[in-house]
Amino acid sequence: MNAFSAKDRDLIKQKLSAEVFDLLIIGGGITGAGIALDAAARGLKVALVDMQDFAAGTSSRSTKLIHGGLRYLKQMEFALVAEVGGEREIIHRIAPQLTIPEPMLLPIIKKGSFGRLTISLAMFVYEMLARVKKSETHKFLNQSKTLEKEPLLQKENLLGSVLFYEYRTDDARLTIEVLKEAATRGAVALNYTKVIGFTYNKAIVDGANVEDSIDGKKYTIKSNYVINASGPWVDELDSLDKIENGDKLTITKGVHLVVDRKKLPVKQAMYFDTFDKRMLFVIPRDEKVYIGTTDTFYKNDKTHPQISKEDCEYILKCLNKFFPAHQLKALDFESSWVGLRPLIKKKGKKPSEISRKDEVFVWDSGLISIAGGKLTGYRKMAERVLDVLSKKILSDQNKTIPKSSTQSITISGGKIPAGMSFIDFTKTKINEAIQLGLKERDVRQLVNRYGSNIDFIFENLKSLRINKTDNGLPELLEAQILYTIEHEMCLTPSDFFVRRTGLLYFDIDQVKKNKLVVIGYLNKFFSWDNTLNEKLTNDLDNEINEAGLSSIFDPQPVDSKP
Ligand code: FAD
Repeated sequence: MNAFSAKDRDLIKQKLSAEVFDLLIIGGGITGAGIALDAAARGLKVALVDMQDFAAGTSSRSTKLIHGGLRYLKQMEFALVAEVGGEREIIHRIAPQLTIPEPMLLPIIKKGSFGRLTISLAMFVYEMLARVKKSETHKFLNQSKTLEKEPLLQKENLLGSVLFYEYRTDDARLTIEVLKEAATRGAVALNYTKVIGFTYNKAIVDGANVEDSIDGKKYTIKSNYVINASGPWVDELDSLDKIENGDKLTITKGVHLVVDRKKLPVKQAMYFDTFDKRMLFVIPRDEKVYIGTTDTFYKNDKTHPQISKEDCEYILKCLNKFFPAHQLKALDFESSWVGLRPLIKKKGKKPSEISRKDEVFVWDSGLISIAGGKLTGYRKMAERVLDVLSKKILSDQNKTIPKSSTQSITISGGKIPAGMSFIDFTKTKINEAIQLGLKERDVRQLVNRYGSNIDFIFENLKSLRINKTDNGLPELLEAQILYTIEHEMCLTPSDFFVRRTGLLYFDIDQVKKNKLVVIGYLNKFFSWDNTLNEKLTNDLDNEINEAGLSSIFDPQPVDSKP
């Protein structure tokens, strides 16, 4: 059995229902994934379930930065800056394919929030706390150097800028690679498995009742300890244990919009202060640019958070102020995503002022919950919650659990030859792929997507060239679908287009073009019945409509009939 293959879903289910685990984790976002890896590496027998696909919650809907947390200085969160700054370096080492250094320009504007002196001071404190390496410390640029870096900026009122580094990531892939690494260390993880209640032995939680959202079957997973890492849903899960546990979180919504680079031809990632004293990123990625984020209180459906006209108008207003020569319209946006921040409640604070710190709760039933936090801090969050669990195990069973070792565990896809930089690794793979007739641009994307696992894609490609059936799928797409099914538990069209490849966000036209053949391929592969086929097709259509903003502007239903 391949521990992370969708082909082995039934075997994984059997294992989950038949065995007793040391730890059951609820939630397969980055928080749950990090805990699964840390716990498995400490020698615990781990199970993890997610009611949707892995990373389908906030962990595929962030700004996609592994960042040092410069903006938290505004809230005087020095400890948080120090922690995420240190973590940024560690993640860069253990996941080089998912932490691409991104020089970021912060324009200094006349009468803006920051003057040169404030920025100098902030940068000094930030770089010291976040232990930024020398080659990546900030530089001040005068007006003409700033305009050289980014000619699209408005000259009037521009005093200069500061250039500093952030790391670009793919949040969903980071989550999945961490989970894959956990699975190779024995963790048993399953998507589309919803916790619907807890089981107890003498009032102490000893497992959970779950429901498979694909076939509707219910079963029980037994585990000595349970951690609730369900992000925005932490309160709902805690209420399943005891109603009064379920009131810790404030949920805020953050929206990102995607535009073609031809319509906003920025050369450079940028970080702006907005007219209402917030911060907004403008980040180029291949042929697209994404912009975000908003930060507003949110109380509606958490599984499909919706973008509103106001969100879109707010971002447009900011963009058109930054780049007056490129007045964008709502219909210029091709795609979008909406994420929910699970923040620990603080009365009287504005959304952007609430701390991003995480907190661990140990309830009377023994259930442990972790809430809040950042993508960048996932490893430390896992360490903290498992240190709490270790103390519990020591007191309950007089058993000592090893300390965290994830600091030195290179995650799946990050295993490039010792002594080789990721840039050199990419060059080597481009040379290999050119022999296979692939284009350099495609290979760069594949290396960033799969890292050292790219060899599996090449192998699939070679065997497809010997045995390819005429199913209408481009060979490179088929090689990836096969890999993601067999090694990344990809089950549905949305899993593939949204969280395994990010195509829905960064190449929505390719999704529209290939969706029917991909659906047909998966349908045949998994032998879905008509009802399931129809449901999964509709799910993908809804995702395309939502991402493409059809729900708020100019509805254009997507054709899904073959
Ligand atoms: P989630 O990813 O939401 O995972 C929780 C999972 O629990 C979900 O997959 C859900 O399906 C599952 N679940 C819920 N209920 C059940 C149940 N009953 N049974 C089984 N499973 C269940 N951080 C950064 O470091 N860098 C950034 O650039 C950044 N940008 C951000 C931008 C935005 C707009 C937002 C909203 C957040 C951003 N963050 C960023 C923060 C970061 O994205 C989150 O802290 C992180 O993704 C939260 O992960 P999580 O695993 O706790 O939650």
